[in-house]
Amino acid sequence: MASTVFERQRPSAALVERALRPSVQASFWLDDVTAVAHPRLDADVTCDLAVVGGGYSGLWTALLAKQSEPDARVVLVEARTIGWAASGRNGGFCEASLTHGEENGRSRFPDEYDTLERLGLRNLDEIEQTVSALGFDCDFERNGAFDVATEPHQVDWLREAAGEAGDTVASDESADSAPNIRFLDADAMRAEVASPTYRAGLLHSHDSALVHPAKLAFELARACVDAGVEIFEHSPVTALETANPSIADGVDVRTARAKVTARRVALGTNVFPSLLKRNLLATVPVYDYVLMTQPLSTEQLASIGWHGRQGIGDSANQFHYYRLSADNRILFGGYDAVYHYGRRVRSKYENRPETFQRLASHFFTTFPQLEDVSFTHRWAGAIDTCSRFCAFYGSARGGRIAYAAGYTGLGVGATRFGAQVMLDLLAGAPTERTELAMVRSAPIPFPPEPLASVGIQATRWSLNRADHNQGKRNLILKTLDAVGLGFDS
Ligand SMILES: Cc1cc2nc3c(=O)[nH]c(=O)nc-3n(C[C@H](O)[C@H](O)[C@H](O)COP(=O)(O)OP(=O)(O)OC[C@H]3O[C@@H](n4cnc5c(N)ncnc54)[C@H](O)[C@@H]3O)c2cc1C
Repeated sequence: MASTVFERQRPSAALVERALRPSVQASFWLDDVTAVAHPRLDADVTCDLAVVGGGYSGLWTALLAKQSEPDARVVLVEARTIGWAASGRNGGFCEASLTHGEENGRSRFPDEYDTLERLGLRNLDEIEQTVSALGFDCDFERNGAFDVATEPHQVDWLREAAGEAGDTVASDESADSAPNIRFLDADAMRAEVASPTYRAGLLHSHDSALVHPAKLAFELARACVDAGVEIFEHSPVTALETANPSIADGVDVRTARAKVTARRVALGTNVFPSLLKRNLLATVPVYDYVLMTQPLSTEQLASIGWHGRQGIGDSANQFHYYRLSADNRILFGGYDAVYHYGRRVRSKYENRPETFQRLASHFFTTFPQLEDVSFTHRWAGAIDTCSRFCAFYGSARGGRIAYAAGYTGLGVGATRFGAQVMLDLLAGAPTERTELAMVRSAPIPFPPEPLASVGIQATRWSLNRADHNQGKRNLILKTLDAVGLGFDS
């Protein structure tokens, strides 16, 4: 197999080891905020809406519900603490896409993709407006993002994407009327961000922002409390009972110590075992790994440029994503996506030395001029991967319970849209959102073990081979593409 730039221009093992030595195993973002504690649910409560899950999905649902009906009693129940899971450990790329990118969206929902794009941009605009209106301190920067090519065949992919979208302009709701997508050749791309690995770039100007993930979760929780939402932490929900609920047409939401009796329930439980049997096979946890550097000095930052501070993703199937933090650290994540037999979420899966070494090595290939930089944090999180690579939505038990999950690693922005869909479904009247094919259809479930494991490992092996073979997809990937299960990042 041909090698990639990350193998051809590998830094020394000693450099990788030195740089990783000071790092601690913890999410930098969660380390960087002071948590506000919320009580445990110790006594029964009755409410209009119970929200399960204290990540972005649950928090947006609770906040939007309270904003539209200030007199409603809204209770949010979280198994551990606000934002501890994916919402407190992600890359902070807050994107307009509701479909995990245009290619995935157009291939799955060709008739409504333009609508999905418009709704996604509006969602991002409304996130920005909320951040501003409620004074969120969450380092929100709407700088756009670059896709970069690090191998010759990827240059053609970017050129094609630019050609197809060359006349794309911002929607009416978007502030800037310049084209959203612009192709940059190697020199132009390296003038933006100085990496010897770049052969081209594609700038998306309007449809992407960066946030401090944990600050966003904590600011959403603050806004919820300000609006009157009651938040309970350390209260895992064990069952949803609708057979003989305490109020007619309602749901008893059981925790170990007490229950919430609610007229309606929204589930924002992401990758964790679904409280609804029908969704137990809908997602698999795939572990994604991240490094964070120390803050760069002025000289170190000058050596790479990056004046536009855009988020960056490279274009292979196994891709890296990286970005600056407000204090000029570099977050560098992605590449390995690791599934563990048995589809469990376990903290022991978060420490994977070989993956952290690989990421550090690829970091120094990307920015060899930063060889004196060290990493302060390394961490991982579980991605709620579903077979169509974008969220699914629905309601159960006669419309009393709604759910949204399966964001497949692109939920920072899309969870707000998912929250609106859940509220629409619970309200029971059709809306533009609930009529979407994307909302009305469901992904194919993953098979039980051992088939899930065999299939996922074969796919991962094939994607790695394609990256080493000019992007050419083998029979496994072509078959998956043909049945709508293929993923081309
Ligand atoms: C390493 C990593 C990097 C990522 N990078 C990006 C990125 O750059 N951009 C992007 O768009 N997306 C990214 N994502 C994905 C993004 O973080 C998620 O899509 C998003 O945070 C999902 O939010 P959520 O609220 O649905 O889930 P979560 O944040 O996982 O929250 C779910 C919550 O539900 C709670 N819960 C579950 N079951 C129960 C129960 N029975 N009772 C009570 N509470 C329960 C959990 O404790 C948890 O707090 C990344 C994810 C990871 C892991």
